[in-house]
Amino acid sequence: MKKLWSGGVLRLLAAVLCCLVLAGCSGGQTALQGGGMMPAASAAAAVDPQEKTTGVNFFFDTVVTITLYGAPEGLMDEIWAECARYEGLLSRTIETSDVSRINKANGQTVTVDPDTWEILRRAREISRLTGGAFSVTIAPISTLWTFTGLVNNAVPTDEKRAELLPLVDDQKISLGEGSTVTLPAGMQVDLGGIAKGYIADRVAEMIRGRVTAGIISLGGNVYTVGCKPNGTKFAVGITDPWESSRSLAAVYTGDATVVTSGTYERGFNFGGQRYHHILDPKTGWPAQSDLISATFVMDSSMTADALATACIVLGSEQGLALAQAQGLDAVFIKKDGTMLFTEGFEEKYEYRPL
Ligand code: ADP
Ligand code: MG
Repeated sequence: MKKLWSGGVLRLLAAVLCCLVLAGCSGGQTALQGGGMMPAASAAAAVDPQEKTTGVNFFFDTVVTITLYGAPEGLMDEIWAECARYEGLLSRTIETSDVSRINKANGQTVTVDPDTWEILRRAREISRLTGGAFSVTIAPISTLWTFTGLVNNAVPTDEKRAELLPLVDDQKISLGEGSTVTLPAGMQVDLGGIAKGYIADRVAEMIRGRVTAGIISLGGNVYTVGCKPNGTKFAVGITDPWESSRSLAAVYTGDATVVTSGTYERGFNFGGQRYHHILDPKTGWPAQSDLISATFVMDSSMTADALATACIVLGSEQGLALAQAQGLDAVFIKKDGTMLFTEGFEEKYEYRPL
């Protein structure tokens, strides 16, 4: 299987299970299995609006689960074809991908797909907004760390990190007309902290208006489109950072994305210390903040993905201030177990501890 980001299948399976969209509707309804929702005058070849189709696949080093209600014939295949196209553009390990070509360019300008260009444009913007806490140019350093949890996990030397840190600066990504990208020689990009969000947004766009409802799940990115036929909302679980096979709480969403970044997701233990996959671009070291998990609920899964990653670096105080200033909805879990919410979060999403 092609890989976009390093990591084990089992861990990803666990991630999907814990970010699982909890079954059922709010109030214990199971309207989608119930009868009587079919419109009386449905056209001859119309799809049953309640018919549920589930597809599971493996892309972007993540188990991707798509659940559709009332999907037209062929939509699931269209989604998989798009996922394969995105993997072909964004994988760091596929030689011909846009990301590989950018990373090999060594100062030369490359022309990329408009999707890749747009991700980089937004990444640079969010990097600025977060004071560099989110930096896709972390690539030379993320390559240095191997968070596979398998073999050769090693802590990079201070010298090596110091040598590579000057290559981390998203503001040096130069984006030109006609989807061109130019990076200073030596710089590289790693879209692992934002690409899944972009893809979730695109898949949500693909299904909106074509299904009664749908749930898109790409690891830590969940997107729910629409409500169930009876109008009740989907419940989305927030992973328990200390027991990632279960959910700590549920939030209820209509058309929205719920994105969680957590330090428990990928990493390894060495010399009695835990090293995780979210790096502080200022130090090149796993983020040392007081946060273990950051979740955003909003309309853009791409923005939520990047901000959730950034907040793990920034910590609770700055993360909360950023979310509030942007008028966004977020919930943070501190290492000491304390939960922090942006104003009105619990009421808005009927937050329910499990
Ligand atoms: P996941 O990919 O496990 O859902 P995240 O969305 O938090 O988790 O992204 C983490 C990934 O993003 C890392 O595996 C790495 O590829 C990349 N990354 C790590 N640190 C940063 C950072 N500070 N800014 C941007 N990308 C990062
Ligand atoms: Mg992210």
